[in-house]
Amino acid sequence: MSRLVCEIENIGCEVEQKYPMNKYTSLRVGGAADLVVTPNNIDEFIRLLDLLHKTDLPWVVLGAGSNTVVYDNGIEGVVVCTRKLKDIRITEESKVFAETGAVLGTILNRTIKAGLTGFEFAAGIPGTVGGGIFMNAGANGGEIKDVVETVRVWHEGREISLKRSEIEFEYRKSHLPPGCVITRAEFSLKKGDKEEIERSVKEYMEKRSRTQPIKMSNTGSIFKNPPDIAAGKLLDELGFKGFGIGGAKFSEMHANFIVNSGGASASDVIELIEAAKREALDKRGIHLETEVRIIGRETIGRD
Ligand SMILES: Cc1cc2nc3c(=O)[nH]c(=O)nc-3n(C[C@H](O)[C@H](O)[C@H](O)COP(=O)(O)OP(=O)(O)OC[C@H]3O[C@@H](n4cnc5c(N)ncnc54)[C@H](O)[C@@H]3O)c2cc1C
Repeated sequence: MSRLVCEIENIGCEVEQKYPMNKYTSLRVGGAADLVVTPNNIDEFIRLLDLLHKTDLPWVVLGAGSNTVVYDNGIEGVVVCTRKLKDIRITEESKVFAETGAVLGTILNRTIKAGLTGFEFAAGIPGTVGGGIFMNAGANGGEIKDVVETVRVWHEGREISLKRSEIEFEYRKSHLPPGCVITRAEFSLKKGDKEEIERSVKEYMEKRSRTQPIKMSNTGSIFKNPPDIAAGKLLDELGFKGFGIGGAKFSEMHANFIVNSGGASASDVIELIEAAKREALDKRGIHLETEVRIIGRETIGRD
């Protein structure tokens, strides 16, 4: 491991050892990752991926960590953090070029200033370009797939371009070739009425603060909506609103959000998820699928 750390530092990336993932993820739970590595630019990012590709060590790329729960036993190997890869460029032709770690809300603000419409769906989604494309993030009737034109990915040692038509997107999922890492993306927007765009974004944000527990640590929707009922409605009907284990509970405001009401562990969160899945299946015959990604060294039950 120490040789690898030297090689990573030689590339120029920042390295943090035994980094507590409760400081990284938005739900504020999870144990330490062996290494969190932060490249300063795309060149370092690609050289780092080339290096990791040649090692036996497990590694994962994370953006803002707003859709990720890490087990209490932490993460073996390397977390590659994209937060410094955040350049955004807007052209006269209403195209937006953004690096993988650019925050969706920052892109939205820049596009509003430029009088461009199409990115309003992202209002209040705290993720990055990479996490957003990986998850096909969406809200307010739009998804990232609607505006993405080209995705550049690192794939087995090469950076290649994939056109929108070459990627299959579905509800909260994109089908990129296995092993791909998103490096940057191009979005295609349209000229719009700035005041109208601002008005819609304000409405979306107001709706969020009325209906979602945005003031507490959370990780967005826990479950995808099953075909015939919203997950939040189902969980509410099953009595999960406000139900908690340890420091985690299903929000009283929106039952499809788990909030960390102080000192929650990943085990608390995972027990809640399992309890809800069991109940949905037993009582309603519905298979709930998690939208949130759970990663790391698996732990079963509470410590
Ligand atoms: C308050 C709140 C509100 C939210 N509202 C919404 C909403 O309305 N709609 C919605 O869709 N989501 C919502 N989310 C969830 C989350 O913000 C989105 O899923 C977002 O797109 C995740 O981006 P991220 O950068 O945080 O991803 P992360 O959590 O860092 O990663 C998510 C997944 O993407 C992968 N990934 C990240 N970067 C890359 C990359 N460069 N290449 C390949 N894979 C990568 C990771 O490995 C991981 O599997 C919300 C979350 C919160 C906390």
